[in-house]
Amino acid sequence: MLSDARQRMYRAEDYVNVSDDLVHYLDYPAETLAVSIPLRCDDGSLKQLKAWRCRYNSALGPTKGGIRFHPSVCLEEVQTLAFLMTMKCSLMGLPFGGAKGGVHVDTKELSALEKERLTRGYVRAFARQLGPDRDIPAPDVATGEREMAWMVSEYAELSGAISPAAFTGKPVVLGGAKGRTQATGRGALIALQQVRGSLDLPDDGLDIALQGFGNAGSWFARAAVKAGHRIVAASDSRGMVRHDDGLDIEAIANLKANGGSVTDLRQDGAETAAADQLITTDCDVLALAALGDVVTDENAGTLACKAILEIANMPVAPSADEPLRQAGIEVVPDILANGGGVVVSHAEWVQNRQGLGWPEDRVHDYLEDRMKAAASEVTTLMRERDIDMRTAAYGAAMIRLCNAISSKGTSEDFRNG
Ligand code: NAD
Repeated sequence: MLSDARQRMYRAEDYVNVSDDLVHYLDYPAETLAVSIPLRCDDGSLKQLKAWRCRYNSALGPTKGGIRFHPSVCLEEVQTLAFLMTMKCSLMGLPFGGAKGGVHVDTKELSALEKERLTRGYVRAFARQLGPDRDIPAPDVATGEREMAWMVSEYAELSGAISPAAFTGKPVVLGGAKGRTQATGRGALIALQQVRGSLDLPDDGLDIALQGFGNAGSWFARAAVKAGHRIVAASDSRGMVRHDDGLDIEAIANLKANGGSVTDLRQDGAETAAADQLITTDCDVLALAALGDVVTDENAGTLACKAILEIANMPVAPSADEPLRQAGIEVVPDILANGGGVVVSHAEWVQNRQGLGWPEDRVHDYLEDRMKAAASEVTTLMRERDIDMRTAAYGAAMIRLCNAISSKGTSEDFRNG
């Protein structure tokens, strides 16, 4: 996984003027800690859970990245996602490096008290790596505001100081940013609108097929419909629904909030199908907001879209990059499209350090400014170097990272005294 992800960096290296030794600096993570966390279960039994935290690179500042609780979490996934965070924070122009954490666990098997003990155990295990000026976790799969509140509390017990800026994605009452929940979905739409001129898309409202109607997907759908686009198809793990005139997004959001599926929608003319049909459905933009590795070299030829928006992390496998280029399907890459989440995490960290809470409008303006600036950098590089959008996004991220690394001296500086 990590070596596949790095191939995208090596491809970009060919088009931007950064020196080889700086790129090799980014080959491997700076620090990865692996532990086992003892979890005392409610029935008295003891589980030992494998857990990791990787700080990939801190050239631009303290490292930043979510903590994931999932049975598929492994060392390589944590390192790969920390690499992506490094590229994303750089592209977004944030003073953060990249990190990621995870625990190999199925939280569906844990009670709330067991989950609290595990979350506090994670902070105890990695306390030396964490801190507002060193490594700042956030929520990810199966972790949310409640886990972040437990983390802040455990960190305060250990450090003897209450330090809200050590974690982001907290409840607003504990210093969380207003608008954080909506940020990734809203940011994805801002990115899409901003790069639209570089995509081969119709001028009016777009037909969008959306995989995944969770946090990021649902807020993207709302923002897209508000901006005049149609969500013509949507899926979740249980199936997909399609309506050529556009789906009723609020009705789907209500169904999902009450434990239902997108396939429960009762809208005249809407048709349901299996979840895996979503990626081959006819649309202008295929927005992927569920899982990684959805589009591969094996199915890239079956897509019926003009462009892909990567709201999830790595939903297009590196093996699909070349087939998609040949098919003329441009990809708005994850490090740009889902960067809104970490942008608003940065806004939260700044507010905590200021001891202030910004109004939601100010958070949203900050999100909009950062997304537009990053998207413009990418499209400018695309035009100047005649390259695809992913390569341009990696190129822009590497230029900023390599400038930070080289400011401490390059091989040439040291050779020349
Ligand atoms: P979520 O758990 O809220 O939603 C995931 C959705 O995907 C659910 O609706 C689920 O039913 C659906 N899903 C699962 N398997 C599916 C399948 N086979 N077909 C169709 N749908 C399926 O998660 P989220 O927070 O919305 O995150 C989604 C993705 O975006 C993840 O990859 C996450 O890492 C990435 N991401 C999220 C954020 C954020 O702020 N939420 C930020 C950056 C990246």
